[in-house]
Amino acid sequence: MMLTMHFDNSYGRLPERFYTRMPPTPVSAPALIKVNTALAKRLGIDPDALSSHEGVAALAGNAVPEGADPLAQVYAGHQFGGFSPRLGDGRALLLGEVLAPDGARFDIQLKGSGPTPYSRMGDGRAWLGPVLREYLVSEAMEALGVPTTRALAAVLTGDTVVREAPLPGAVLTRVAASHIRVGTFQYFASQGDHDALRDLTEHAIARHAPDADGPLGLLAEVTRRQASLIARWMGLGFIHGVMNTDNMTISGETIDYGPCAFMDAYHPMRVFSSIDTGGRYAYARQPDIALWNLAQLATSLLLIMGEDKDAALEAAQGVIDGFPDLFRAEWLRIFRAKIGLTTIEDGDTALIHRLLDVMAAGGSDFTNTFRALHSDVAADQFADRDAFEDWAREWRDRLEREDATPEDRAATMDRVNPAVIPRTHRIEEAIQAGVAGDFEPFEALLATLARPFDVPENTALMRPPTEDEVVPQTFCG
Ligand code: AMP
Ligand code: MG
Ligand code: MG
Repeated sequence: MMLTMHFDNSYGRLPERFYTRMPPTPVSAPALIKVNTALAKRLGIDPDALSSHEGVAALAGNAVPEGADPLAQVYAGHQFGGFSPRLGDGRALLLGEVLAPDGARFDIQLKGSGPTPYSRMGDGRAWLGPVLREYLVSEAMEALGVPTTRALAAVLTGDTVVREAPLPGAVLTRVAASHIRVGTFQYFASQGDHDALRDLTEHAIARHAPDADGPLGLLAEVTRRQASLIARWMGLGFIHGVMNTDNMTISGETIDYGPCAFMDAYHPMRVFSSIDTGGRYAYARQPDIALWNLAQLATSLLLIMGEDKDAALEAAQGVIDGFPDLFRAEWLRIFRAKIGLTTIEDGDTALIHRLLDVMAAGGSDFTNTFRALHSDVAADQFADRDAFEDWAREWRDRLEREDATPEDRAATMDRVNPAVIPRTHRIEEAIQAGVAGDFEPFEALLATLARPFDVPENTALMRPPTEDEVVPQTFCG
């Protein structure tokens, strides 16, 4: 069975200072964990060929598929607010870009493929835990309708990766509209490399914003997409955990599922990441951080926005200043739908915030509360039932001014409020089983997360963690 992938590697045609061209580092004993059959077909790749001996060798980095042009991309980035002038793919390689049958272009990246010149102190490898987590969460995000990088495959390497303990090594094959980041622009901006900035801008516009007029148009498009993306995260109780500028894409896709989590008990200042000790990337801070990151993109793009520096600054500032309104509009659209509103009234924002306040006060489960809202057991989600009933009276008054029947409203709400999300304790359970060689929990969770708005057969997957099951922190891996 021949593995054929229709590569067309446009990033590799950019100047050599954009990357380091190099092959992946071979591993001892590649073994397939999972191929994403539906995504393979979407990309015009035969899933059987991908699962074959030849395919698994390619997914592990032991063979380079015909037409690929593996390279490590260079980028910079603000990490927790501090600027690192050179980061880059330290444990990943872009194999190349695949053209799908419909002409759409996708990056194919191996994550965990060995050291590169950008590895700094790292080993260039990934262990099974983060690979399974990224697979589960990114595919859940896709099913939830959130723009995201995706998982095409996961393989074991047969090698041991040393973290706190020796652990099984793995490689994730990640698919993205591109891996161009805010940090890619920052890399060239910090070097004063205006030619590279122009090339990168032109490349990014061609791939992601063909209607954009120059750097300002690109900035405006990225700003719109990020406002929409962050609002979707907020609507799902998703905490990215490491919103460094190197982890913010130009395409508007969620990227880098490291110390992320979907909240169980709601609190606006919730943090999961073990390294986010200051709470910089707490749930409620995400819109402000996105804005901060976009300001870094604007700062980079300003270098190529023309001779009249004052006019350029004013224009870029105007775009950035538009973010809060864009975000608020998206947020309101999403949360209105979550509480079953289809019309618009002035008091809606306050009504939603009052609900969130009652949820926060008693630590209501974010997902289950919205899912149960239209049912007669909604109050069970609240520590203070009276506080909820007070709110619910206001809500019902507001619903009086909507046309929908209660049945129709309930059905509509069930299409925006998921029944299942990838809860951290379930992900950890799947990882622990996987480390012991049992991928059944991973498969079961993955299958359930593919239909997140349906009540799953295994209703235990809807349940928040018990005290014994709580996983208080997540890690970069
Ligand atoms: P992240 O926090 O995942 O966005 O990673 C930040 C930077 O650290 C990126 O440049 C990664 O490529 C690099 N990095 C993370 N883990 C490793 C590792 N195990 N080996 C080499 N580089 C790594
Ligand atoms: Mg990253
Ligand atoms: Mg990461």
